[in-house]
Amino acid sequence: MLFEAVSEGVIVVNNEQVIVSTNASAEHMFGYEKNELMGRHLNILIPHEYHAGHAAHVDGFMEHKESRQMGRGRDLFGAHKSGHAFPVEAGLNPLEINGESFVMALVIDISIRKQQEHQLQELNNQLEIKVSERTKALSDTVEELKIVNQERDAEIKKRIEAQNKTKNALKKEKELNELKTKFLSLVSHEFKTPLSGILTSAMLLGKYKLTEQQEKRDKHIKTISDKVHYLNNILNDFLSIEKLETGKINYKFSTFKVSKVVNEVVYNANMLLKEGQEIKYPENIDDYSLFQDEKCLELALSNLVHNAIKYSPENTLVDIQIVQDAKNTIFKIKDNGIGIPINDHKNIFNRYFRAENALLTQGTGIGLNIVKSHLQNLGGTISFTSEENKGSEFIITLPNVVDKEMAIGHMF
Ligand code: ADP
Repeated sequence: MLFEAVSEGVIVVNNEQVIVSTNASAEHMFGYEKNELMGRHLNILIPHEYHAGHAAHVDGFMEHKESRQMGRGRDLFGAHKSGHAFPVEAGLNPLEINGESFVMALVIDISIRKQQEHQLQELNNQLEIKVSERTKALSDTVEELKIVNQERDAEIKKRIEAQNKTKNALKKEKELNELKTKFLSLVSHEFKTPLSGILTSAMLLGKYKLTEQQEKRDKHIKTISDKVHYLNNILNDFLSIEKLETGKINYKFSTFKVSKVVNEVVYNANMLLKEGQEIKYPENIDDYSLFQDEKCLELALSNLVHNAIKYSPENTLVDIQIVQDAKNTIFKIKDNGIGIPINDHKNIFNRYFRAENALLTQGTGIGLNIVKSHLQNLGGTISFTSEENKGSEFIITLPNVVDKEMAIGHMF
């Protein structure tokens, strides 16, 4: 009764694996009538291809004889009477009755479970395929987006470049306008005084007709020529600014003696000296040579020496010192003049800037700015120390040999 009540199929075989008992579940599972399996060999319930393997397993089981789950690690199949095989799970229980050995197998048809497992596997596979398809689509989109981004970045870069070009052009235009305005206001201020001086001297010249008045005539001729020089310098400064701005300067490099330039500068500056002023300069510098732009060095030195004279009172000394080492030549121009107020130090090299204590002296605020630009172009530097009412010292450092690339860049 117990046999019949359980839902699992129960099959009992003897030592020879002949079926001695089955329950209704087992008969139904394998498609047999009641008692139809009695006396048949167990092989009838096992698909052909598993017969050999099964025999070996039975031998092993009979030796150890203990209850266990059958077919661990491999799929088991039962043979239905109609010929088809179906998946099963089976548990084996050895038993002994009256000294005779039997094995009772509990069998479950797991077709539906296997089918579900299979479907699940199928679904999983499909899911995986879908996931990998989606992943690929996603990475394709990311790649496309990257390309779009790159194109957009390039476009933005181009726009910024164009914007910068326009900005620069506008800035140049503004600066040029500013230069024109400054020039006009400068012309009206700075040109008027020397021009009226020239006019006066020219008028007076006409009046000194007597031979013995030659001294007076000479004085006025000197005034005229000084003032023309002065105006010429201002004009030259303006032209230099334009050239420096537009990069249209052709530096001319050559080897020359430092003493030649210094003598020239001192000779010209001597004519500008005030009463009792004196220029001291080194005379033992015949060994110093430079491969540089001679005219630029002359311009820089004469600017500094002229300023030293201009911004110092009578009876003072302008001291020029020059030293040369293996790499650089250092020029120091020191005066005992009005000095530069500390607050103005930071602006001294700015174009058009003039210190507050210099406003009564004629000037344009252009000279130092030009000198600094030229020196930078030639690989040099300019600096200064100054104390108001005590004096100033300007220091130029210039490489003995101009940088080759710089020379090639500017030499024609
Ligand atoms: P400028 O002399 O025509 O005004 P610079 O560019 O040569 O123009 O000089 C700028 C300013 O620097 C001057 O206006 C002056 O205030 C100050 N400066 C230059 N050199 C000296 C100096 N040796 N002593 C005092 N102030 C100076």
